[in-house]
Parts: sequence; structure tokens; C-alpha cells
Amino acid sequence: MYSFFESVERSFDKAALLTNWEKGILAQIKACNSIYSMRFPVKMDDGRIEVIEAYRVQHSQHKTPCKGGIRFSSEVNQDEVMALASLMTYKCAIVNVPFGGAKGGIKINPRNYSAYELEKITRRYTSELVKKNFIGPGIDVPAPDYGTGEREMSWILDTYQSLKPGEIDSAGCVTGKPISQGGVHGRKEATGLGVFFGVREVCNMPNVMQKIGLTTGIKGKNVIVQGLGNVGYHCAKYFRENGAIVIAIAEYEGAVYNEKGINEEELFKHRKATGSVLNFPDASNIQVSTEALELECDILIPAALENVIDGNNAPRIKAKIIGEAANGPLTPEADAIFAERGVMVIPDMYLNAGGVTVSYFEWLKNLSHVRYGRLEKRFTENMNHHILSEIEELTGKKASDKAHKLIEHGADEIDLVYSGLEETMISATQEIMDIWLSNPSIPDMRTAAYVCAINKVGVAYKELGIFP
Ligand code: GLU
Repeated sequence: MYSFFESVERSFDKAALLTNWEKGILAQIKACNSIYSMRFPVKMDDGRIEVIEAYRVQHSQHKTPCKGGIRFSSEVNQDEVMALASLMTYKCAIVNVPFGGAKGGIKINPRNYSAYELEKITRRYTSELVKKNFIGPGIDVPAPDYGTGEREMSWILDTYQSLKPGEIDSAGCVTGKPISQGGVHGRKEATGLGVFFGVREVCNMPNVMQKIGLTTGIKGKNVIVQGLGNVGYHCAKYFRENGAIVIAIAEYEGAVYNEKGINEEELFKHRKATGSVLNFPDASNIQVSTEALELECDILIPAALENVIDGNNAPRIKAKIIGEAANGPLTPEADAIFAERGVMVIPDMYLNAGGVTVSYFEWLKNLSHVRYGRLEKRFTENMNHHILSEIEELTGKKASDKAHKLIEHGADEIDLVYSGLEETMISATQEIMDIWLSNPSIPDMRTAAYVCAINKVGVAYKELGIFP
């Protein structure tokens, strides 16, 4: 049994053997550069003082700032944050987002705290980061992760700005902010949408699909999603909207199944109203949540936490494609079992990179101090209108109102963000596939993704001139 960080190191080592980098460079790429482990006291609503355990790990500064989310979970520990920070480095490298990797964690179950207590914890955590120079638009830029969202990012921003008055680019100290605080349209759904784009791209590759005995395309495929948080919810939504059938959704209290499909939005409302996904109309209950992962399906999307599929349950999993929306959902033992059985595992560190990709767009927006599309939207619309009018005059024919609307439309922020995300996921998928398919000694897509990441970070280190 390996720790999460050891699992990441093992996958790294396996891929490193297939590269030509010298040992020293590989050791530097793999190492966590800075680890900040902290304890601080917070007074709770009932007057009690609680000592909070928290971390921020900067895995690599080969590019700055470092980037990665902050999670609130009672499972947080240093090993986990180190593993997640490492994955961020490789993830950013693969999708060509110019950041080093980092991750933060606060060891609390947010359900056990009031909003006011959570605000105090988040603000105190942020001021600890400021004190040690572990946060800033050019240093280290946190974002949402498991158990955090826009609200926490607002608290981080406000605390940072109050401690660093007059810093012109301070809005770029954190991403995943609400729009009103400098956030970007499309960040919330970015990870789920990126997962969808990545899986769709693989499903559109005839040679790959033939190998696993599936037809090409997303339409009609049976999908199981684990997790109804931000990532799982949006994965389910995009698969459903594009013709897949989401036959089961699992949460920690249980899972629900309906072969005709489950609407994630209705299920979300049901869970909010009743406190559980169970007893959802027209669906059958699965009391032991993990059993849902073992149902017959084409695509399985674990979108919750790490290590949910291990050597024990992997042999019972029937999916032909596993899309890792969560970070580290498969243990190395599970990985080996799937590789042997020919199950296609699309690895986390590029598949869930949509979040950090759109975070990059948000950070750029903050540094440029202007919303995407503000300058060119109207110009494009006027120009398209002129072109269309000219064509109509020359041909003597009128285009329909619908065509006018579609063709004349100038890009809004959301159009540009989605387009940037789609392009990023498609090119990353193709790049990794090219590496995999062109080298017969690479056993699986995860190893290909690692080879891709190691080469990119290796080149960056070499160009920094640290290694003679
Ligand atoms: N927490 C997300 C991840 O694991 C997003 C990180 C970010 O946007 O910086 O990739």
C-alpha cells in the first residue's frame, strides 16, 4: 500500500525511465520545493479555541507563479498536499499553462463549521500565507478545490488586498473568484467541461475505440459519475447534453441508478431538499455507494477524491473507459489491473486540467485589467454585418434572421473562454496520444502524460540554466 505521494512518485519513475533526462534533473523535477505546514488558533462561535492544521506546498518554481487549489477536508495531510501539488506541476506543463505546481489544504470538515467560522479560518490561513510570502499574483495563486468555492476565494482576495494595499495586480492573487470580484465567466464549469472535451476527443479516435470494442462518439454511451460536487455535476451535465446516458450518480451517502438516465440538475435539487441522493424519483437506490462504480457501463468518471479505486475493487469494475476527473482516484495497483485488462484510463493530470486552464485565463484577465471581448466584440459585429449586407446585395438574396444572429455575433468572454478551453483539451489529448502511439514501450496513457510533462518541465529547467 503506497501513500498518495508515493503513488505519484511511482508513476513518475515509471515514465522517467522512458526519457533521456539525467538523474539530477529528474530528481529536481520530482522534488517538492517548499512545504509550509502551519497550525493557528481560531475562536469558534461557542467561544472555544480550536487549533487548525493547514498546509501549502509549492512543488515547483520552474515557472512562476505556482498554482493550485486549496481543499477543505478532514482527510488533509502533508503527504496528500504534496501529491496534489506535484500533479499540478505536471498538469500545467501538459496543457502549456505557464505555472509551477502548488496545493493547499486545511484539515477541517467544512460541514461542521458555521459560515462565520469558515470565514475566520480562511482569512487567518491567508494572512499566514502573506506573512511567509506564500501568496501573490507573481508568487503563488490559490484556487478552489474539494470543499471550497467562490465564497472562500473572495475571502482570500479581500484578506490579501487589505494586507497589501495599492498592489495594482492584487486581483490575480487567487482565481475562481466570483465575477464581481474579478472572476472570469466559465471558471465554475471549467473542470467538468474540460473532462468532457478530453473524453470526447478520445471517443472520436477510431483506432483507440476499436481497440476497446466501442463505437466512436459520445452519443448513446452509458456513463457513471462518482461525485455530485462542482466537477461531477458539470461532467454529468455535459455528457447528458451531448447525448450520453448518465445511468448512475454516486455520492458518499449512496448512489442512484436509472438505465434511462438521470438528470443531474433534478438530482442536485433533490439532494438539497432531502439531504441525500437516495430515493430519487424513478431511480433505484444503491446503499453502498462504491458498488455503483462496479455496474456495467461504457465510461466511468470518478469525480470525487483520491484512491477510490484500488486493487480490491478494480477487478470488479466493468467500464471500458475511466476518465479521471478527480485527482488520483486510481491507486497504482488499480492502474496495473486496468492496463492488463485493456481498460482505457484517461489520466487525471491532463483530463481535469480545465480548471487550471481557465484559472490561467482569469489570471491573465486580472493582469490586463480588462474583460475578454470588451475591445473587439462590437467591432466584429459591425464588420460581420457589413460583410453579410454586401453579400446580400451582390446576390440579391436575404439571409434568415437566425443566420444573421449567428454570423454577426461578436465573441463574449464566455465564448472566448470555452474556445480556449476546447482548443487546450483537444491539443493536449492529441499530444499525449501521439507520444503514446509512437513509442511501443509506453504501456498506458498515464505514462505517456508523465513523459510529456517531464519533457516540458525538463526543458524549462534546462533553459533556466540551473544545470550546467
Ligand atoms: N483545484 C483545481 C485542480 O486541481 C484547480 C486549480 C487552479 O485552478 O489553480 O486542478
